Amino acid sequence: MFDKILIANRGEIALRVIRACREMGIQSVAVHSTADADAMHVRMADEAICIGPPSSTESYLNVASIIAACEVTGAQAIHPGYGFLSENANFVQIVEDHDLTFIGPTAEHIRVMGDKITAKDTMKALGVPCVPGSAGGVPDLESALKIGEEFGYPVIIKATAGGGGKGMKVATSAEDMKSAFQTARAEGKSNFGNDEVYIEKYLTTPRHIEIQVFGDGKGNAVHLGERDCSLQRRHQKVFEEAPGPSITPEERANIGKICADAVANINYIGAGTIEFLYENGEFYFIEMNTRLQVEHPVTEAIFGVDLVREQIRVAAGLPMSFTQDDLQINGHAIEVRINAERLPNFSPCPGRISQYHAPGGLGVRMDSALYDGYSIPPFYDSLIGKLIVQGRDRPEALARLNRALGELIVDGVDTTIPLFHDLLAEEAIHTGDYNIHWLEKWLDARFGSI
Ligand code: ADP
Repeated sequence: MFDKILIANRGEIALRVIRACREMGIQSVAVHSTADADAMHVRMADEAICIGPPSSTESYLNVASIIAACEVTGAQAIHPGYGFLSENANFVQIVEDHDLTFIGPTAEHIRVMGDKITAKDTMKALGVPCVPGSAGGVPDLESALKIGEEFGYPVIIKATAGGGGKGMKVATSAEDMKSAFQTARAEGKSNFGNDEVYIEKYLTTPRHIEIQVFGDGKGNAVHLGERDCSLQRRHQKVFEEAPGPSITPEERANIGKICADAVANINYIGAGTIEFLYENGEFYFIEMNTRLQVEHPVTEAIFGVDLVREQIRVAAGLPMSFTQDDLQINGHAIEVRINAERLPNFSPCPGRISQYHAPGGLGVRMDSALYDGYSIPPFYDSLIGKLIVQGRDRPEALARLNRALGELIVDGVDTTIPLFHDLLAEEAIHTGDYNIHWLEKWLDARFGSI
């Protein structure tokens, strides 16, 4: 086992990893930008080292500084968290070239899944059901129009290198295609340096269902059921739950096995998420994330496992500490993302926290790096906390969420907390009857198009 792990991240996810390290008796090293000198992860880690100025390209994405920080502190392994360098295959290669261990999948697996066309081809070959669409990249508008005709509108044009909702455009008709095709290409080029795009049938009323998988890198893998992340704004998840309210035990077992077998087949190591759209009882693969997800705690809650601990174990060459049969679902869990954002247009709202009080009690987990007097810097993501609740069933989890939100105090900046109070008053949230467009429509009806 490692003696010391460096965490190449900040905020709540850095704390999450530090906590796992501490329980495992492993020393932790925090890295931080000058803007984060007073951040909670710096205070909580056993050691901390400054790796650059506020801009993330010069700090949290600064590979040379992070490698140097490992050498200076004697850290043997790097946990990337999510975002930043977590899905950067070149970084993984450099880490390995320095005889350090990357806590996550191999550079090759990250590369394959990071390119959406290759990922889709790979998954298809492994027997995973995919959204109907173009066979590979679509080189020009003429081919795009042919595909639109073949599959029928609406279709979605996606940048193969895209992510975070960028580089995707829907075309509802042939007239629409020209601008949608060009915009998706341009976004792919400017955001990801790659203008290759592909086309899929656009599903009109799907849910977003993702399967958590975990492999030991030696051909063994399990699945930990699904998360339903259908409540999204601009393709960003805001409310996630497990198990999915629309998924039957048989469906879970079937799609779970397909996913576990697929990753076992490629000797996948560590945590991964296979994302699907789900419509009329069918699953359609959209992408695989080769890292820990923001919403992993709902899975941890219902299975009673520590996914970060497990990531560290397999990275150190140990076996997984559970088998598929050990993994039984216990109750229902929900996570809401608390962002420092001003409603109704969700504009970032950094600033000083004058008062912070985290909720507690049975079945409540608050993952946050906030503290009284903390100043949220303007340079990074606006996620400031995740409130996770668990109940014996969905109604109990929702009641607990309502209770916990009532206890949560974040003063000094605007947050998305009022959004969740309002959502909990909606019948659809209680019946679970919604798809990936529901939240946008609800926001439009409430605030108008913004
Ligand atoms: P990203 O990598 O940018 O997150 P994804 O491929 O995971 O992109 O898609 C993000 C979201 O976009 C999905 O959760 C869904 O809301 C929407 N989406 C993607 N593909 C389709 C599709 N074929 N039909 C309908 N919606 C889609």
